[in-house]
Amino acid sequence: SGGLEGRTAVVTGGSRGIGRSIAERLAAEGALVAVHYGNDEAAARATVATIEEAGGQAFAVRALLGADGDVDTLFAGLRAGWGDRPLDILVNNAAFIDYGATIDKATPESYERLFAVNVRAPLFITQRALPLMRDGGRIVNVSSGVTWFATPEIVYAMSKGALNVFTRSLANSQGSRGITVNTVSPGITDTDMNMNWLRDSADAQRSVAAMTALGRHGRPADVADAVVFFASDDARWITGQTLEVNGGLLLG
Ligand code: NDP
Repeated sequence: SGGLEGRTAVVTGGSRGIGRSIAERLAAEGALVAVHYGNDEAAARATVATIEEAGGQAFAVRALLGADGDVDTLFAGLRAGWGDRPLDILVNNAAFIDYGATIDKATPESYERLFAVNVRAPLFITQRALPLMRDGGRIVNVSSGVTWFATPEIVYAMSKGALNVFTRSLANSQGSRGITVNTVSPGITDTDMNMNWLRDSADAQRSVAAMTALGRHGRPADVADAVVFFASDDARWITGQTLEVNGGLLLG
């Protein structure tokens, strides 16, 4: 293992997709990782088992984000997992997309739900995490390329734009504690979030490859390695930044 021995990390949405890969890689570097999930307990257990089989340390924590008391539930689970240990690394990764929340079809309800999970939850999770965090801690927010390219899922895009803005002001406020805050902004990555159009469609994969400099769509590990970099000591002088991790999507 590597440079994160003795550190604690929580990855929201660490049970599947990009979050799962982040959890596995943080654990491979030696961190004790809380694998947060909302509904899919089997996926969270499988992620923890994979980490343990590789010699790492992890536990699963359930909290349905967007529900009443979500932050309380999460931090009760974290305390059960690691007691009074301070927190070193927070990865705000959990989010969902609503393909129905377009400019024509969005409703106040779909808006509220997207912002509750994708914006309100990371804000108040971070607020609760900061007093538990060691000076020199790390916060990484997982945003999206839809903050700079247009998409029909306009409300999802707005929620990710809010997260980018959050990173910058939070980074400024936490700098005096040596806590860095950065955004990793994935492009098109093969996870369940895209399975309805990407995973089983050779045509969709070809068109994504054609608009990507490196000629393919992303895999969770491609994104996770950038998150682990921001979480590491090597990234100590980088804060308030957004890194596009997308293989050169729509470069020109
Ligand atoms: P997945 O749908 O594969 O996984 C989502 C994860 O978040 C799961 O662990 C899920 O847990 C958890 N989650 C979602 N909603 C909730 C909720 N309400 N409460 C608790 N947990 C929740 O997503 P990805 O891995 O694709 O996405 C990870 C991040 O990357 C997201 O922020 C996404 O916006 C971003 N992203 C993804 C891209 C892509 O192409 N895949 C592109 C750009 C950004 P459970 O199953 O238990 O609910």
